[in-house]
Amino acid sequence: MFHIAIDGPAGSGKSTIAKSIAGILGCKYLDSGAIYRIIGYHMTKKNIPLKKSQEFTEELKNVKIEVKNDKYYLFDEEINEQIRKKESGMYASEVAKIGEVRDKVNSILRSISSKMSTVIDGRDIGTVVLPDAEFKIFLTASPEERARRRFCELREKNISAEYDEVLKEINERDAADTLRNLAPLRPAEDSVTIDTTSLSVEDVVGRIKRYVEEKKQ
Ligand code: C5P
Repeated sequence: MFHIAIDGPAGSGKSTIAKSIAGILGCKYLDSGAIYRIIGYHMTKKNIPLKKSQEFTEELKNVKIEVKNDKYYLFDEEINEQIRKKESGMYASEVAKIGEVRDKVNSILRSISSKMSTVIDGRDIGTVVLPDAEFKIFLTASPEERARRRFCELREKNISAEYDEVLKEINERDAADTLRNLAPLRPAEDSVTIDTTSLSVEDVVGRIKRYVEEKKQ
């Protein structure tokens, strides 16, 4: 059994790359951001402010999240499109500052990883969630390139957005994720950093594949 941590800021290509690597190596892909997004979505729907409070803690205890066959469930309802809206990332970023939320997400990720090989993408996988992961990759790209990718993704889904707005959101989320006290976004000391600004998905996947093969020997 082995584990691959892929961390990096929003729009650095983590999920596309992580999914592809998991497919190639035949292990399970886990999207840790999706779980933060589900918690943000649920609390917002219930009109519970996204900050630490007794009400938030009580509700968090009851929230039932499951990952089955690569699908994410909230109280047995499959969640996907609901957490891909423009505002969902910011909601996720807000709840991600709360320690109890992080504990809940981490225990889901660790429980699955204790049973099988996983590739997990996120912000703190190599530093906090799986510090003993055999392979750790930190993906970066310029904020402008990341905003361009996000903008194209939204357009493909017919979600209206302005490029400047997307860039602003990327910069805000970077700041929130890097500056927070709990599990801030940063490369693990033993990670390999890849700047994907001018690389294709195939290039990045190829590099990671080589890194894994070389390190395995
Ligand atoms: O990766 P994604 O953009 O879906 O993540 C949404 C938000 O969830 C991030 O901006 C970050 O605040 C939070 N997150 C986190 N730790 C992770 C994954 C996501 O704090 N491991």
